[in-house]
Amino acid sequence: MSAPGSGIPNATSESSSGVKKAFPRVDLAGNNLPPSPAPSSPHAGRRYNIATELVFTEGSDQYNASSVPIYQSATFKQTSGSGGGEYDYTRSGNPTRTHLERHLAKIMSAQRALVVSSGMAALDVITRLLRPGDEVVTGDDLYGGSHRLLKFLSSNGGIIVHHVDTTDAEKVKAVLSSKTTMVLLETPTNPLIKIVDIGKIATAAHEANPNCIVSVDNTMMSPLLLNPLDFGADVVYESGTKYLSGHHDLMAGVIAVNDLQLGERLYFPINASGCGLSPFDSWLLLRGVKTLKVRMDQQQANAQRIAEFLENNGFKVRYPGLRSHPQYELHNSMARGAGAVLSFETGDIAVSERIVESAKIWAISVSFGCVNSLISMPCRMSHASIDAKTRAERALPEDLIRLCVGIEDADDLIEDLQRALVEAGAVRVTMDGIEAL
Ligand code: PLP
Repeated sequence: MSAPGSGIPNATSESSSGVKKAFPRVDLAGNNLPPSPAPSSPHAGRRYNIATELVFTEGSDQYNASSVPIYQSATFKQTSGSGGGEYDYTRSGNPTRTHLERHLAKIMSAQRALVVSSGMAALDVITRLLRPGDEVVTGDDLYGGSHRLLKFLSSNGGIIVHHVDTTDAEKVKAVLSSKTTMVLLETPTNPLIKIVDIGKIATAAHEANPNCIVSVDNTMMSPLLLNPLDFGADVVYESGTKYLSGHHDLMAGVIAVNDLQLGERLYFPINASGCGLSPFDSWLLLRGVKTLKVRMDQQQANAQRIAEFLENNGFKVRYPGLRSHPQYELHNSMARGAGAVLSFETGDIAVSERIVESAKIWAISVSFGCVNSLISMPCRMSHASIDAKTRAERALPEDLIRLCVGIEDADDLIEDLQRALVEAGAVRVTMDGIEAL
């Protein structure tokens, strides 16, 4: 098992379900991906380690451009009156987007990846597989936007949505039935950082209905740390706005599958509605993903130190890199690291507000995965679209502070946080340092 916070995959470790945690050796050569003038597939079928794969791309650009060209064109001229070109219209396909999709398929250990205009657009595309009367089983600590979309589908689209505690496989099994056509999971959940056993739930869902589509939102982990498809998920999706791009300068969503027929079913609404990622944003995302490993390694190491700092000073901290996390073992049986998002409680909403407002390096902002460190109160910001009654039912503490750790110097981050804790009156200064009140 890799040391928490180290981000170093261990080639030999296996989870209890027997699934290898190490990056699988996927050879995309010869598969049925859409054609691209700039293929990003392993040279001669060779699969390199992830740090290499992230930056290594192959292409057949006429000028051997080192950076994949941006085909900023809505249309492509055809070779005959009956068509015949590889591309015709960017809503249907664009060479820059295809190159990115092939690159991401390789990195996500998938047979096909699709890129769309946001993480929510990705979930929208996935939920278009549903029909009125279908049942969806999902978590009770979902990202607020996902919750909002599912609520819309249940009130307007005739979809029956069951929100259960997905960290308890027995509770999930209790609502699964032959009518369950989709299971939507997030792990770790956000912002309560609860862990979901993907393998156990995927097996139970497929037993209940062999056609059930198990879909996992992998935004919190990124493909660097977790590959849900290896644990039995049918679809993995991510907000590319977060770790994949890393700089909060674009919106994107990524969907990946191993079943090529399912890939075609997901491509249909992208082409039909036009939510495919623009050529420029595809290029930006391709650039961002190249530094995923160096960013995540630093973010994760910083997050571990900050989680330990808060815990050592008496705060209740939720972070899967801490041994005190109740599902530490489960998380580490699936993932290659703990990620860089953590949350903690102060016991007082006003104190939490003062901490958030006193921090200087930590920007008050929604989202995560950026090179800059961010601080927020989820109930006031990212999860405000979940009404107060539902938040209370789901035991979402109103004073919860979420920290999304960036790549800055860890000492500076801790010093800034410590100053904010003192200014907010959350700690008392003692001879030995500080302690939570
Ligand atoms: N999934 C998770 C876990 C998220 O946190 C977010 C956004 O914060 C999304 C999905 C939606 O992604 P986007 O904002 O790119 O639409």
